[in-house]
Amino acid sequence: MADDDSLEILVEPNSAPVPDADRRKMLENPGFGNLFTDHMVLIRYTEGKGWHDAKIEARRSIPMDPASSVLHYAQEIFEGMKAYRLADGTTALFRPEQNARRFQASARRMAMPELPEAVFLQSVEKLVDIDREWFPSAEGGSLYLRPFMFASEVFLGVRPAKEYLYMVIASPAGAYFKAGASAITIWVSQDYSRAAPGGTGAAKCGGNYAASLVAQAEAITQDCDQVVFLDAAEQRWVEELGGMNLFFVMDDGRLITPPLTGTILPGITRESIMILAREEGLNVSEEPYSIDQWREDAASGKLLETFACGTAAVVTAVGTVRSGSGDFTIGVGGPGQLTEKLRMRLVDIQRGLAEDQHGWVKRLF
Ligand SMILES: *Cc1c(COP(=O)(O)O)cnc(C)c1O
Repeated sequence: MADDDSLEILVEPNSAPVPDADRRKMLENPGFGNLFTDHMVLIRYTEGKGWHDAKIEARRSIPMDPASSVLHYAQEIFEGMKAYRLADGTTALFRPEQNARRFQASARRMAMPELPEAVFLQSVEKLVDIDREWFPSAEGGSLYLRPFMFASEVFLGVRPAKEYLYMVIASPAGAYFKAGASAITIWVSQDYSRAAPGGTGAAKCGGNYAASLVAQAEAITQDCDQVVFLDAAEQRWVEELGGMNLFFVMDDGRLITPPLTGTILPGITRESIMILAREEGLNVSEEPYSIDQWREDAASGKLLETFACGTAAVVTAVGTVRSGSGDFTIGVGGPGQLTEKLRMRLVDIQRGLAEDQHGWVKRLF
């Protein structure tokens, strides 16, 4: 690797890409996470040698030895980000350096090697470039990017692996939640925790999702869209959804979000919303908020709105909260004014429709 942390990425274009007409058809209604582009990034890491063999090549299956360490001990981390086609036709990423840094933080927590920020950015940008024909045609569409890394060493001993594979795949994406959904219903998980103090809650690792799926399945049987997790120690403090952070809009101009104590994933959307909300004159407060308070404030009208946020679904109103001890509705049960305003402010910046005062939008081509 060169001194400046860059790595030459060898490009071997796909010799049999999806034919134009088929791709266009696919892009009319891409859904989320179903379709994949023609290429992928692969970079290997070997202890003692560092990062090497960086490539972009045709997307394909990867051979895996059954003793690959990730299959047994789950050393795996990932990122989720979107490339947008802006109103003026250029293509851009939103705060990609934040994803690169969070990927490094996740790697540290999982005893994995850190990918240099420059290599992360270069890999993602090159993939968007080579798969630039894969943006969905409909408005609101984007190219969802999934960088990830896992322990590829063939070894069953329990210790951090000595070999890893970093990859990036891309998936054209429409809206995350089913069309027409204006507010989601969420299920309060009282039997399962997502993350405990000292655990991996702040790392973006597959294991956190694995631990959340039984609660998500329970949510579905309760006719809910998503699950909300409480803190593991007291089952009292509201933390976050399986893959989105939460905000509470109060009637006195306060916007509350749970603090980052190590059990919550530090969302880039969360941080961006906090900045935009302060600009709107709101008093943004990172403070613990209990499930009892939530119910009480919804009933008294002190709580006006609740919304969830993350890259995939951007900003989504929470209409109803359901639990073993009954339901409660927030505000009118649909998207409130502030949720809508903050969503629009963020989306307008991401799409190049509003001035980018913070330098969040990284234009590619
Ligand atoms: C990725 C993720 C989020 C949202 O993070 P963004 O950077 O806003 O996309 C929130 N919670 C969890 C558990 C996540 O994995």
